[in-house]
Amino acid sequence: MVAERFVVVGASLAGLRAAQTARKSGYDGALTLVGGEVHLPYDRPPLSKAYLEAGTDEPEDPTYRTDEELRTELGELADLRLGTWATGLDPERRVFSLSDGTELEYTAAVIATGAKARTLPGTEELAGVHTLRTLDDAVAIRAAFDAGARVVVVGAGFIGSEVAAGARKRGLPVTVLEALPVPLVRSVGEQMGRACAELHLANGTDLRCGVKVTGLCGADGRVTGVSLDDGSTIPADLVVVGTGVAPNTDWLAGSGVTLHERDGGIVCDETLATGLAGVYAAGDVAHFPHPLFDGLVMRLEHWTNAAEQGMLAARNAINPAEAKPAAGVPYFWSDWYDSRIQFVGIPQADEIRVVSEELGEDKFLALYRRGDRLTGCISIDRPTQIMKYRRQIMKSGTWAEALEFAGVS
Ligand SMILES: Cc1cc2nc3c(=O)[nH]c(=O)nc-3n(C[C@H](O)[C@H](O)[C@H](O)COP(=O)(O)OP(=O)(O)OC[C@H]3O[C@@H](n4cnc5c(N)ncnc54)[C@H](O)[C@@H]3O)c2cc1C
Repeated sequence: MVAERFVVVGASLAGLRAAQTARKSGYDGALTLVGGEVHLPYDRPPLSKAYLEAGTDEPEDPTYRTDEELRTELGELADLRLGTWATGLDPERRVFSLSDGTELEYTAAVIATGAKARTLPGTEELAGVHTLRTLDDAVAIRAAFDAGARVVVVGAGFIGSEVAAGARKRGLPVTVLEALPVPLVRSVGEQMGRACAELHLANGTDLRCGVKVTGLCGADGRVTGVSLDDGSTIPADLVVVGTGVAPNTDWLAGSGVTLHERDGGIVCDETLATGLAGVYAAGDVAHFPHPLFDGLVMRLEHWTNAAEQGMLAARNAINPAEAKPAAGVPYFWSDWYDSRIQFVGIPQADEIRVVSEELGEDKFLALYRRGDRLTGCISIDRPTQIMKYRRQIMKSGTWAEALEFAGVS
């Protein structure tokens, strides 16, 4: 069936790409983009990078399109409902219920509601404690940087580490607290997590691994420090909690959409179909089996994945008879201090081999093997190299070929 009423829920990267792609692929019916945030769709990666940098000028606006540009691009039959949350989905009647009390019919839909940052329970009322997921979060953190805050970051993942790097660039004192003995183990493996951690140490960030936060201290409603299980307290004016995200799917409870038992993300098939007629999902919210990695089910939190899946989900939802699988090689980047970390593929590996340390400084490249296949590659400041390995992973290249390509035996 070709769609007549196409609805996209979630107006960030995946949702925006879904709406744009519907139009680009010739769909000219009714199109509604529903977004809970009041802001026009905006780019999140700069929020933990350029947006936090010093300067009295206003930081660059991360919005993808002006209101006029977006309405022109999506056409007359497009309805942009910002500041409106989807609150339910009835697959029998094919309607979404919305926070303004109205209902929205669909013949085809893409759910791209992404994820929200996890918080430290019980700290919501304390001023100076933030997560970093939204533009509003970034405005608050930037203001605290401007005020010269002593910064404590809880969690040495990518977002927390970028915030730490941004604070150090401004000369602010920064402590990063990580519960695991080595950061980023799930994202890049232990050995490479250790290599990334070196960047913190080399740039004057006090990285403490294997520590447990027991609570926050405050006075007059503001945070004053972070308490650890060894009895010590680290003074802080700004605490940024970077302990991961949870998919935004509470509103789908009871709708019949299958939610993943581990994190509540939406379980999709390889075409991003949810199992409910006409309903697809895309981006940070979606679990899907990846055909390049023997059907391994994954949920990615990467910009490129959200963009690619938004486009694919729209095409598949509008024309399900020709639905294609989500098969892009996962890719993300992260900027720490003056270095760029990049990763292609998946981190689950039987072996991780560093293939170029000889460049000295912090530059390196390492390959990930699963069975006899090349399945991943990480680099620090080797942008051209890593894309060559991305192509090898795309064509299911063997480990032997990858080593030969890297010039090692
Ligand atoms: C600070 C930051 C830095 C990042 N840096 C990088 C980077 O360097 N490299 C990289 O690869 N990736 C990076 N990412 C990850 C990347 O930005 C995400 O993968 C991407 O934003 C996911 O897009 P999405 O559209 O799937 O979800 P989201 O961006 O989470 O958007 C979902 C949208 O849906 C809305 N929504 C939620 N529930 C509802 C509802 N019920 N009704 C209506 N709307 C709803 C939300 O308010 C939100 O606007 C970064 C993320 C952050 C937060």
